[in-house]
Formats: sequence, C-alpha cells, structure tokens
Amino acid sequence: MIILDGKKTSADIKNEIAIEVSKLKSEGKKTPHLAAILVGTDGASMTYVGAKVKACEFVGFESTLIELPEDTSEKKLLNEIEILNIDNEIDGFIVQLPLPKHIDEQKVLMAINPDKDVDGFHPTNVGRMTLDLPSFIPATPFGIMELLERYKIETSGANVVVIGRSHIVGRPMSILMSQKRPAGNATVTIAHSRTKNLAEITKQADIIIAALGIPEFLTGNMVKEGVTIVDVGITRVDDTTKKRGYRLAGDVDFESVSKKASYITPVPGGVGPMTIAMLLKNTLISCKRGH
Ligand code: NAD
Repeated sequence: MIILDGKKTSADIKNEIAIEVSKLKSEGKKTPHLAAILVGTDGASMTYVGAKVKACEFVGFESTLIELPEDTSEKKLLNEIEILNIDNEIDGFIVQLPLPKHIDEQKVLMAINPDKDVDGFHPTNVGRMTLDLPSFIPATPFGIMELLERYKIETSGANVVVIGRSHIVGRPMSILMSQKRPAGNATVTIAHSRTKNLAEITKQADIIIAALGIPEFLTGNMVKEGVTIVDVGITRVDDTTKKRGYRLAGDVDFESVSKKASYITPVPGGVGPMTIAMLLKNTLISCKRGH
C-alpha cells in the first residue's frame, strides 16, 4: 500500500510556484496577487483562510485578506466583490464559504468576475470546464487530478466511483475523470444519497473518490483488493484525548480500507493540502495570462 502524500506533493507544487514567482519578479513582471473575503468568524473558515494567506507568503505572492463582520449586508459584500473585480492589482480572489444565512451564496458567486474566479465556482468556468475549454478548475478536484497524475495512477479505462455529487467536489470530479485528459478517460459512476446498493458498486471500482462528509463511511468490506482511494472528507469528530477536543476524520475507514488498497490518501495530509496548492496555481495562471 502506497500513501498518496498530499502534504509532500503540495510542497513540491508550492516550491515550483515559488521558483516561477521569483522568475517573474526578476523579469520585472507583476507579482501574483490573491485576495480573500471572509465574512464572520467561523472557526474552520478562519483556519482555511489563514492557511491560504500563509501559503501566499511562502510562494512569494501578494495577498489581501478582507475580513467583514457576520452581519455584513449582501449589498455591502457585492460592493466589495465589485471593487476586487475591477482592481487591476488583483489576479484572483475567493469568497470563503459558507456565508452567513442572510446572504444568497449563488448571487455572490455569480458576481465574481469569471476571469478572477480562482475557485472556479462561477457558471462560466463550470461551463467551460465541462466543454473542455480552458477554465479555472475548482481547487479540490484540480488537486485530486494533480495527485493522481503525479503518482501515475492508471485512470484510462478504469472504473471510477465518485461518492457525492456536490458542486465543489463530486460533480466536477466526475466530469474531469471522464474527459480526455491526464488522469481522465475513466468510466465514471457518480453515487449519492439516493444510490441503492452502494457497496455492490464500490466493490467494482478501481478508483474511489469519497466526498460525502460522513466520517469513516467507506469500510474495507465495500472495496476490492488493489483499489485506489481518494478520501476528500474532513469532519471534526469529538475526541477528548486531543488537546483541542476533536480530531479530523475522513470519509474512509483508513484502518480497514488501507489493508486492501494499493494507493490511499490519508486524512489529514492527503487532499486538503493539495487544495491550497492548486488555488495558488490558479492564481499564477491568472496572473501570467494578464501579462
Ligand atoms: P456536500 O455536503 O455538499 O455533499 C455531500 C454529498 O454526499 C451529496 O451529494 C450527497 O448526495 C452525498 N451523500 C450523502 N450521504 C450519502 C450516502 N449515504 N451515500 C452516498 N452519497 C451520500 O459535500 P462536499 O461539500 O463535497 O464535502 C464532502 C466532504 O469533503 C466534507 O467532509 C467536506 O468537509 C470535505 N471537503 C474537503 C475539501 C478539501 O480540501 N479536502 C474540500 C471540500 C470539501
């Protein structure tokens, strides 16, 4: 069993980006600049945004964090987005999700200039991705594709089962892996909460992408020998033995599944770190396109 090491791979990618950034700087070109808008003080969101800002520093990007109070009106948020949309200094920006309930998430995502939508959530980018046109690919699926490619996992003709059909992970993964592209050309099944006899389906899979958000859902008796496992789930599970009172659990029961798998991502240290690296990559792409 080989660990698909997202921590190491993301460090490699960040080092590659850092080299490109110093080259851009030495050529007197613009330094990539990523901005993030954070509304409210949700603990997990603050951690994610903090990690993104730190990653920007590491690779030599400029970064701007716009922190807005929980009671920020939708109008005020849309106004902040418009400022970033037209600011030539900003190559890409994200609005950290989830947003407070009084704000219409869809309206907010639609307001982002697709050319700066480095999260790849805008319908224009989703449409372009679906049509095999150049686009920003959402960071988590982009990271998984990169991980599969760098570990040379054979995906062509493979039976892939994606568990979960969310717009940010499951759905784009199912599209990308079915496309004619590196880490693509697979025969993809997408499973969700209404799927019947899931274990019968997962037992046929050469590769399983688990993105449903139920801790340790996929167990050893649901997979075949030699399967490749990508565990996207991150759930905080109460754990009094930990100083912070919780541990991070994936959607895969690592203990039983790793005994049968040929490749598997750990949680933490698998898909999570890849997500941030690919957000940086999207920002670099956006910046270079502007040159
Ligand atoms: P979501 O909550 O939006 O959707 C969950 C999906 O799972 C739904 O499509 C639902 O139909 C499906 N599902 C629910 N119960 C099921 C069942 N019993 N059998 C089969 N399918 C079932 O999920 P999401 O936003 O894609 O997130 C999934 C997990 O991935 C969460 O734990 C989230 O925290 C994590 N996540 C991690 C990263 C990362 O960077 N590593 C990024 C995004 C999401």
